[in-house]
Amino acid sequence: MTSLEDICVTQLKGVGSALAGKLEKLGIRSVQDLLFHLPYRYEDRTRVVPIGSLRIGDVAVVEGEVMKTDLVMGRRRSLQVTLRDDSGFLVLRFFHFNASQKNQLSEGARVRCFGEVRPGRAGFEFYHPEYQVNPPPMPPANQATLTPVYPLTEGIQQPRVRSLCQQALSYLNRFPIKDWLPPELLADYQLPSITEAVRLVHSPQAGAPVHLLMEGRHPAQQRLVMEELLAHQLSLLQVREQIQAREALPLLPTGDLADRFLDQLPFQLTGAQRHVMSDIRQDLSQPLPMLRLVQGDVGSGKTVVAALAALQAIGAGAQVALMAPTEILAEQHYQNFRGWLEPLGIRLAWVSGKVKGKARKEALAEVASGEAQVVIGTHALFQDDVEFQRLALVIVDEQHRFGVHQRLALREKGVGGSLAPHQLIMTATPIPRTLAMSAYADLDTSVIDELPPGRKPIETVVVSDSRRDKIVDRVRQACREGRQAYWVCTLIEESEALQCQAAEVTAAELADRLPDLKVGLVHGRLKAAEKAEVMESFKNGELDLLIATTVIEVGVDVPNASLIIIENPERLGLAQLHQLRGRVGRGEQASYCVLLYHPPLSSNGKARLQALRDSQDGFFIAEKDLEIRGPGEVLGTRQTGMMQFRLADFERDKGWIEPVREMAPGLMAQSRTVEALIRRWLGENIRYGDV
Ligand code: ADP
Ligand code: MG
Repeated sequence: MTSLEDICVTQLKGVGSALAGKLEKLGIRSVQDLLFHLPYRYEDRTRVVPIGSLRIGDVAVVEGEVMKTDLVMGRRRSLQVTLRDDSGFLVLRFFHFNASQKNQLSEGARVRCFGEVRPGRAGFEFYHPEYQVNPPPMPPANQATLTPVYPLTEGIQQPRVRSLCQQALSYLNRFPIKDWLPPELLADYQLPSITEAVRLVHSPQAGAPVHLLMEGRHPAQQRLVMEELLAHQLSLLQVREQIQAREALPLLPTGDLADRFLDQLPFQLTGAQRHVMSDIRQDLSQPLPMLRLVQGDVGSGKTVVAALAALQAIGAGAQVALMAPTEILAEQHYQNFRGWLEPLGIRLAWVSGKVKGKARKEALAEVASGEAQVVIGTHALFQDDVEFQRLALVIVDEQHRFGVHQRLALREKGVGGSLAPHQLIMTATPIPRTLAMSAYADLDTSVIDELPPGRKPIETVVVSDSRRDKIVDRVRQACREGRQAYWVCTLIEESEALQCQAAEVTAAELADRLPDLKVGLVHGRLKAAEKAEVMESFKNGELDLLIATTVIEVGVDVPNASLIIIENPERLGLAQLHQLRGRVGRGEQASYCVLLYHPPLSSNGKARLQALRDSQDGFFIAEKDLEIRGPGEVLGTRQTGMMQFRLADFERDKGWIEPVREMAPGLMAQSRTVEALIRRWLGENIRYGDV
């Protein structure tokens, strides 16, 4: 039987090849695709609102009589139509208009229009409202319906999409949409069939509960939301299956490398570190590729855990790759690991994008021959020219943006190209539980939920930049007492060039004002060697004060630094600030973090900085960040398409996450269902979080 998936949109009236091409940009090829092109909100045009009751930002229908119509010359020529009803008046402003519009909208005309209220010179205005002259009577309240608003692409207007969707709906009687969810399940949650749900969201019946629809809580919408979340969950489980369809080299814990390593450490592992290690040890000894995410707050000691995992692989005669997101961090790991592992007779190689020429050739040769047992670097590690001899474990540090595609691609890098390497992913960005369940369904998770003993809390203060002088004094004082400090410059611009410039200016200013301190500068535009040199001198205590851009955000570890100033913290996310703050509080002495904001601070901004001041619990902060900014920002994947839902909204729909996670594994065995749901909701080109 034909299904809507097989009916091309060109079958619809008015869809030629040009329009079909545009629709394709929205991922719409079949009539079914069109039906799953869902409205993301509704406009309530069901009733006329008195002009006098409008507020800025309202989107509303008003109706009245034209008092006068003027051509205003100003900076931009516009047509200004003043509309009046019994309660007040409103200006309709058109920047593009023709003579006939001007005639239609002349004095005395009766006009109904729909627009968004903006502040104007003499009162409220609508810019380019949709309007009708001499409108028909409004339908009675019980027959009025909401107007759906669709995602658009260039060259397709809202009314066009609306009418196409209406046409598509007319196919539903003959070709209902296949329902892949078990009927018992729908009954349990009192949800409508897929066909009914789709029909309703495109064309809400008169009398359907407006507030539920406006908020996305109508059962029809919730049915779709649940299916969408389920499809995402299934796609992640499928990735996991695809990776684990390969075998991995079982890495049995043998030899005394781990014991010798632990003996030389100046501290004992925390209980949490031991606990996580036992998860990892267990995973690594299986012939199934490990897929494990280790979450641990800043300073919880993830690096030692990474080293122990590496030692298990090395002890079993295999190679390990450790990848970090930035040169600085990779370099720091390289130094750390050399200090720890070389005394045990282990050979390391360093591969980053900036290692070139002969040095690179030599490093690659050592990796290919297996002479290097541990390879450390940036993502340059996984370029095509890097060949491993016996890679069995990949450790990815601080890279929660490491997407599903990368995880899939790693399959190919293992021993003989057929054994998949084990994967260990570390992140210090605590991910709220619900988000982790949804975004990392393909990974097992362990949490290092304990900090090493003796850590002092970091005292955080929120200070206006009008008191910058005082803060500079404070830096002087701390450094005189033998401490070190960070001064972090931030810019709202993503442009790295501007960020670096700002840091240069600040560095010059502070060097000038603090002549008895040794001041260093590090930013993303320095050469790797220069950066490394600056970091090294700061680490050695040759520099007192380090001016930096947010490049030092993750991982940098200098225990003697006890003061961090963060400029314009209101521009950064809470999780990022928490990361930055975590650069201090790593040693014995009391530490301070100064959030130096630029007033005025919005009330939301104030609340956020206060949350940071009052808490040092990364998970709590991450929950707050999620509430305030949404999952895309928290995961750092806003631009990447990961966790971009058509309908689902993380906050509103978090109640579904647990049930969806419970039902997904049971469905995995039904491969047709899985394929169909993934295709329906994620399309052909599955949009995972690639970076
Ligand atoms: P993160 O989890 O942020 O990557 P690191 O691995 O950089 O943290 O560890 C932070 C600091 O804590 C390092 O100086 C590290 O040597 C130290 N450390 C790690 N584990 C312990 C422990 N069990 N006891 C004391 N200090 C530890
Ligand atoms: Mg770290």
